[in-house]
Amino acid sequence: MKVYRSIKPLIEEIGRLKRKQKSIGLVPTMGFLHEGHLSLMRRARRDVACVVVSIYVNPIQFGPKEDLRKYPRDLRRDTDLCREVGADICFIPDTRTMYPDGFSTYVNVEDLGDTLCGASRPGHFKGVTTVVAKLFNIVRPDTAYFGQKDAQQAIIIKRMVADLNMPVKIKVVPIVRERDGIAMSSRNIYLSPDERKEAVSLRRSLDLARVLYANGERDPREIIKKMRRAILKEKDAKIDYLSIVDLKDLKDINRISKNALVAVAVKIGKTRLIDNVILSNSQTA
Ligand code: AMP
Repeated sequence: MKVYRSIKPLIEEIGRLKRKQKSIGLVPTMGFLHEGHLSLMRRARRDVACVVVSIYVNPIQFGPKEDLRKYPRDLRRDTDLCREVGADICFIPDTRTMYPDGFSTYVNVEDLGDTLCGASRPGHFKGVTTVVAKLFNIVRPDTAYFGQKDAQQAIIIKRMVADLNMPVKIKVVPIVRERDGIAMSSRNIYLSPDERKEAVSLRRSLDLARVLYANGERDPREIIKKMRRAILKEKDAKIDYLSIVDLKDLKDINRISKNALVAVAVKIGKTRLIDNVILSNSQTA
């Protein structure tokens, strides 16, 4: 596996691969890798000739009061894991490389980035789309892989790619969970043992939504009310949002008729966790 820290030699390597007609897959991450990230890489490994993993904690997607400085990092372990999974290239830039002095161009997907996580994290998705657009220009992947865990992010990236005619296919990979049902996340490390038990309430509330839906409930308000109750049983849980929205435009819906996204963001103590499930027509409990 080749590791690149600067852009120019990586672009040259990508050029060589393109000339040899190798297909390229990109897995963008912020590192501190877990099975969720690895499932994206394994999927890429099956699909393409050359798997590129980027590891970069992108400062412009963090708000001023967020956890940028203490975001967990372990580059040695991350590169070992990438190698084990069979990645070909690992791109680990630093911030001077990604945003040199004078940087002033941003990519922003309007509307979709203002709801759900965007409402409590203003500017977050603008930071995400900007860094992903840069990575797409550097790596020129045929396919890029994103997790369903960050459902809104995947929808926004697809919108950006369609709107800006970017020649890349976006594949969304299912959520990988811990044994207790919590969605894997680099931020789970912040949770104390007691908080971790409380964090299971996100998954429990989503299971409840699925059961209610399978039993014929189509009123989002009813489902949300019961989910809210399930989460607020936990003493340290504070709901940021709990929404049932249209999977395409992320707008609130009055009645669940086609595919709907049930998305939750909850703070357990100081740690903000997100999770989601899709309710589809074909689904049963
Ligand atoms: P992050 O390092 O948090 O920016 O995540 C990098 C990529 O991994 C994103 O596309 C995430 O959606 C995806 N990802 C993170 N956690 C999971 C998970 N538990 N299951 C599937 N994909 C995930």
